[in-house]
Amino acid sequence: TTLPLSGRIAVITGASSGIGAATAQRLVSLGAKVALLARRKSKLDALVAEITAAGGTALAIEVDVTSPEQVAAAAATVTAELGRASILINNAGVMLPAPITETRVNDWESMIDLNLTGALRVIGAFTPALTASAQENGVADLVNISSIAAQNVFPSFAVYSATKAAISHLSRHLRAELGPADVRVSMIEPGLVETELASHVTDPAVTDWINGAAQAMTLLKSEDIAETIGFTVALPRHVNLQQVTVMPTHQV
Ligand code: NDP
Repeated sequence: TTLPLSGRIAVITGASSGIGAATAQRLVSLGAKVALLARRKSKLDALVAEITAAGGTALAIEVDVTSPEQVAAAAATVTAELGRASILINNAGVMLPAPITETRVNDWESMIDLNLTGALRVIGAFTPALTASAQENGVADLVNISSIAAQNVFPSFAVYSATKAAISHLSRHLRAELGPADVRVSMIEPGLVETELASHVTDPAVTDWINGAAQAMTLLKSEDIAETIGFTVALPRHVNLQQVTVMPTHQV
């Protein structure tokens, strides 16, 4: 039996937890081989063991996406160990909201360097493989994980939202640029998903807001987003789901 993603190699950043880890499992279940990129190697190794035990193929690569050298080395490792990437899921990200008046420059820089510049580093390193793969097989996918924060306004989220708005608009431009070369570009914009993302928040009001939402409604699960991503990349090659907003039913 041929699965929808048989023969395809997927690279997932931020694969050690949350949406990235669930997406790895989902893409493997659809037939892809996966390269898992993140800093916490032990988490990646555990996920590789799980996938391998279930008969799938996965490779763990310890990468800090803020390092151009490490990202370039990871691209070479993927090609050498698995083959040419035909799916890239740009998912690594951090969310550190706080009132702008607190001038948390270090947090601003962290978010910009990972969510925006980091994504660009990864796009730069893997786009040659995606375009070559598209030329050979007629399709490749670049999926950027943006956020509902790219569209809506949340108190204290200005800088995080700016990085996500940048990723969404970047995706629109890249779709126009790469689509004619058979590289589909998609942006996924989730609402609140239950993951480790909120564990890094230090602003008490933001933590209260997130906890309140978690009590008031059923948040999305990482698997919900993984399913959307799997659907997107398994579509017929002439269909490009450009922008997908996925919200908890009760989140306004
Ligand atoms: P997690 O915190 O669970 O996942 C973040 C991932 O990014 C981890 O695997 C982490 O791994 C990785 N990461 C962090 N820093 C780096 C780095 N410097 N280099 C490489 N990898 C790094 O949260 P989510 O799964 O929720 O987040 C995934 C994406 O989804 C993010 O882009 C986030 O903005 C977006 N999103 C999340 C929403 C939510 O409500 N949870 C809503 C909308 C969008 P490690 O620490 O091992 O490096």
